[in-house]
Amino acid sequence: MVQRRKNLSWVGWMTGLLVALSSSTALAADTSAEEEVRYHQLADGETLGTVAMQYQVGIDELLTWNDLESVHVPPETTLVVKSSEEVQGPSEPLPVIHVIRRGDTFEGIARRYGVTIRQVQRWNRRLNPRRLQLGAQVRLHIPGSNGKSVSWGAANGGRLYNGVAMQTTPGMRVRNVARSYGTQRVVRLLQAAGADVQARWPDAPDLVVGSLSVRNGGRLRPHRSHQSGRDVDLTYYHRGNVELPDFRDMSVEIFDAVKNWHLYKTLIDSGQVEFMFVDYQLQRSLYDYAISIGYTPEDLEPILQYPRGANVRAGIIRHSRGHLNHVHIRFTCGPEDRNCH
Ligand SMILES: [Zn+2]
Repeated sequence: MVQRRKNLSWVGWMTGLLVALSSSTALAADTSAEEEVRYHQLADGETLGTVAMQYQVGIDELLTWNDLESVHVPPETTLVVKSSEEVQGPSEPLPVIHVIRRGDTFEGIARRYGVTIRQVQRWNRRLNPRRLQLGAQVRLHIPGSNGKSVSWGAANGGRLYNGVAMQTTPGMRVRNVARSYGTQRVVRLLQAAGADVQARWPDAPDLVVGSLSVRNGGRLRPHRSHQSGRDVDLTYYHRGNVELPDFRDMSVEIFDAVKNWHLYKTLIDSGQVEFMFVDYQLQRSLYDYAISIGYTPEDLEPILQYPRGANVRAGIIRHSRGHLNHVHIRFTCGPEDRNCH
């Protein structure tokens, strides 16, 4: 349930009017700066996590606005939802070195990085475009991000502009902040989904957040991906609400299919997950549980690779070696992301 109420004082209204009279562009700026407060009463099945997702705000913001210390609130609580704090970083172009590989041309490079051929020539006057040597370095200045948090390029060869360091929030424990940068959208979504599990199951342990990306993206050893703020590694929920200090190998016996399914389904339903790597034997637990609560095999086809075999490229949740002790989630390219693939 949503009610809208404008938090606009008389002085604010007068100022807005004066600014509006002075120019039309100022009017647009003033409208966005004006703080809108919304009230949301929790309906059946909703939690702080689902509200954070619905309004695309941070779970930490929601806790602050409502002066709450945990996500456990009585049913039908009315929450205050304000305007979210958007990341606003520098918008300078990002310098990138492209190393020439077989078949590269200035034209192809320009297309790949979203710049013009003339720009590539201007930045690389000492290179002869008709005689590019393998291993030669091409300097580029890829376009800025308008200060927004942006995933740029490929997950295994990209960058991250104005990334947000994921902090520990209810349900998600960050191990190393320096390796936990993602786009604002990805960080918020993860935090909201973790908080949602904890709101539904008060004894649910926090998940350990392994790597996302480093501050500006780029290579993060030992990973090949995790370069553009759209990949994350998480522990699995362990049965009996056992809190894991770190990644630990799972088996069907200790894998908590109920909470893991809920978390993955929530993320997938947001429409922002490209794929998840989950060991094939654990997928069976997810499948059996989903069937037990009423999903049909047809419902599960687009979601789970199981039971089609660990080598079949199908389903958002897929097998990949090395994922018995953690799930790897790749998020989709968002509307702000650039040259993202
Ligand atoms: Zn990973």
